[in-house]
Amino acid sequence: MRFWVDEAWLPEGWARDVALEVQDGVIASVTPGRREGAHLPGRTVPGMPNLHSHTFQRAMAGLAERRGPAADSFWTWREVMYGFLARLTPDDVEAIAAQAMMEMLETGFTHLGEFHYLHHAPDGTPYADPAEMAVRIGAAAAETGIGLTMLPVLYSHGGFGGQPPAPGQRRFVNGTDAYLRLVERTRAALPHAITGIAPHSLRAATGEQIAELLRAHPHGPVHIHVAEQVAEVEQCLAWCGARPVQHLLATQPVDARWCLVHATQMQPFETASLSATGAVAGLCPITEANLGDGIFDALRFTGPWGIGSDSNVEITAPGELRLLEYGQRLLHRGRNLLARGEGRSTGEDLWTAALAGGAQACGIAAPAIAPGARADIAWLGGTPDEAIFAAAPVTRVMAAGRVVVEDGRHAKRDAIAARFRRVLDRLRG
Ligand code: ZN
Repeated sequence: MRFWVDEAWLPEGWARDVALEVQDGVIASVTPGRREGAHLPGRTVPGMPNLHSHTFQRAMAGLAERRGPAADSFWTWREVMYGFLARLTPDDVEAIAAQAMMEMLETGFTHLGEFHYLHHAPDGTPYADPAEMAVRIGAAAAETGIGLTMLPVLYSHGGFGGQPPAPGQRRFVNGTDAYLRLVERTRAALPHAITGIAPHSLRAATGEQIAELLRAHPHGPVHIHVAEQVAEVEQCLAWCGARPVQHLLATQPVDARWCLVHATQMQPFETASLSATGAVAGLCPITEANLGDGIFDALRFTGPWGIGSDSNVEITAPGELRLLEYGQRLLHRGRNLLARGEGRSTGEDLWTAALAGGAQACGIAAPAIAPGARADIAWLGGTPDEAIFAAAPVTRVMAAGRVVVEDGRHAKRDAIAARFRRVLDRLRG
């Protein structure tokens, strides 16, 4: 496929009238100053990786916004989530995942790291294929066209120190051996995806289990939730005398393979230590705001970071970056805090950093409009600053060389949205 665009953000900067050739989903050539092939007007940037999501949670968006009898928190939200997921079938999970992935593509996400922990039937027994749910997530990715890094989650315990899981967690629970078989089966069933490993958290997996996973899988992405909540920090301190990030860095070989999701609750010494590891901080500003987690110390952190839509309460790549910057502005009472220097565009610096960190976390090459890169491209109705801060829409999206979004709408929107609506009506009815 040959086409040209009005402006393209190349590794060396913005260029006008850029002709591109795409073969087998990969950019074969990029020629500035040439109008050749179909004209796909607009301003193009590399598509954004979404490094952290639980797609099934898209179906409970808006269901946990009614005030309860006591103080509401992450933990009361989690009870709503457990009650909700108890009823989901594999068909439901596929339908919800397709809706979430379609919305991701419509806002400029072209790759997804799915942190997948809903493994079993409602009574906790594995499906005939233990990777049934992972296969359904893979089917939704194929239907929508989004790239996929599958992160099957090890969830064994209900609290620090190997406490037994709660009844609401039975759909997640595996021992180490069953988990390692699940990873192998997932990898075999999803040959087009990258499969990593993901101990859920220091609450749900012990240090010995994490070490065993790392021995079995010496390469590829490693994701973990950590230090999202103040209560989690207090429980960790009571259990081992150290804070979660402090404990993780002291006991596991955290390096550039790792993505520490949230890392919201860190002391400055932890932020400095984490920066030095090369691990990615997986930031999910909209979910962290929705759940009242707190604000990541982005000014002190000097390592790679990327963005994730996590609970999928609202799906928007520019919106995650906007809230990340706005959180810092509100905290520090300044402006353009995540721009990397005087005169630089905050939007461009946010987009650039999130591309690199998101790709590192997902185990893919950094997205770029350059020969050899996967043809993951988003067309913006303005500059990155306008897209992030002034609601200029994402108009067209190409994923692996296929235009899947035109005029802001996914090509399969009607069918995917209708199926999702039927699932919602049944679940909420
Ligand atoms: Zn999460």
